[in-house]
Amino acid sequence: ATAASATDTRSPLPVLGRDVLVPLVTGGEVTYAALDYAASAPALQRVWDDVAAYAPYYGSVHRGAGYLSQLSTDLFENSRKDVAAFLGCRPDDQVVFTRSTTDSLNLLAAVLPHGTRVFVFETEHHASLLPWQQREGVEVGFLSAPRSPREAVETLDRALSAWRAEGPAEGGSAGPALVCVTGASNVTGELWPVRELTEVAHAHGARIVLDAAQLAPHHPVDIAASDVDWVAFSGHKLYAPFGAGVLAGRADWLREARPYLAGGGASRKVAVRVREGVGGVDVEWHTTEARHEAGSPNVIGAYAIASACKALTEAGFEGLVARERELIARVREGLTEVPEVRVLSLFGEDAPRVGVISFVVEGWNSSHFAAALSAEYGIGVRDGLFCAHPLVRTLLGGEPGDQGECGAPEAAPGERSLNAIRVSFGAGTPDEHVERFIGAVK
Ligand code: PMP
Repeated sequence: ATAASATDTRSPLPVLGRDVLVPLVTGGEVTYAALDYAASAPALQRVWDDVAAYAPYYGSVHRGAGYLSQLSTDLFENSRKDVAAFLGCRPDDQVVFTRSTTDSLNLLAAVLPHGTRVFVFETEHHASLLPWQQREGVEVGFLSAPRSPREAVETLDRALSAWRAEGPAEGGSAGPALVCVTGASNVTGELWPVRELTEVAHAHGARIVLDAAQLAPHHPVDIAASDVDWVAFSGHKLYAPFGAGVLAGRADWLREARPYLAGGGASRKVAVRVREGVGGVDVEWHTTEARHEAGSPNVIGAYAIASACKALTEAGFEGLVARERELIARVREGLTEVPEVRVLSLFGEDAPRVGVISFVVEGWNSSHFAAALSAEYGIGVRDGLFCAHPLVRTLLGGEPGDQGECGAPEAAPGERSLNAIRVSFGAGTPDEHVERFIGAVK
């Protein structure tokens, strides 16, 4: 605990959990070093304080006449405005509160107009890769793994040109198209060329959704400036671990589609017709965000996201990015000093990235390695396939193991790794955690 707090002054984003003691197999206890921010980042102290201050005033949202219900409703709707400001939304954009990035992308898949063609790189996280093919009447074009940002842009350009060349189907229009792309990879941490991909998409008349699950906690996401049509992200990766996420962007497809969830809150007027035992329900649905937010919303989750957004903005991304860059350089340098370590990269060693680094260690099974970091050093990293099987397959050059969706396949010690180890951090990470990690790997 002493070591951790001694370096706190260097961290511009105080987070919870730095004094948590965990047992070591070698005896004794050590403070937990959370280096798995890409899975879930610890809560910001500020988020926790804001939520705790609100907790006694908790009330139902959009449903109660009482004072605390009014207060909670205001808090919920103001959270929407704070998130819109954080994302740099255009005036007509909607900000829908969801459960997570996965939920946000499934919502977008559900509202796509019939006949939409979706384009997605095979390297995407499963949350970006899989929702589209669930929708009937939607076709998916999978794009092969690019080995540079420029190749990504060229690949998309070619695919969209070919789609346009197909021409209108049966006398109709070619239909709408949507590109789904990640801002920063959850496996390599590499930044994708969002602005260029957006230009290409729009030049071909396609729309684009940005999976900002890994980008938003590390870099500003400016919807208006980058011109993306939608952005999806999760609170629990943005230092607000209370089960909420966001889909923000263009209102038209959201307004025109059937509600994602049918129920109270989404409907404005409901009447049942019954004649001789045969009935139906006439429903007038809201055209605001409420259309897709049926049921009692997660006000704490929304408020926590808004609190984290404000904390990040107030801390200033310039300083946060600079601090994180130092940490990335230190981890890269430390890993380079270990000849058995191979860092995984799609775009090349020096590609710009966020604080997410995956690697394998020659002669080690990645799961055993990650388990040893935890048991012997109190360091929490992630091992496995990171819900991005095709990408990990490309990076490792082989078939990843088959032990569940995001799981870690077993291999005997000394066998070639079928999965990888991922260390991830943010501007809230103290130097001591990074130094302990490097020492442990060595
Ligand atoms: N996209 C990316 C790039 C991610 O890293 C993740 C989480 N690992 C997701 C989507 C899904 O986020 P969630 O689990 O919060 O839905």
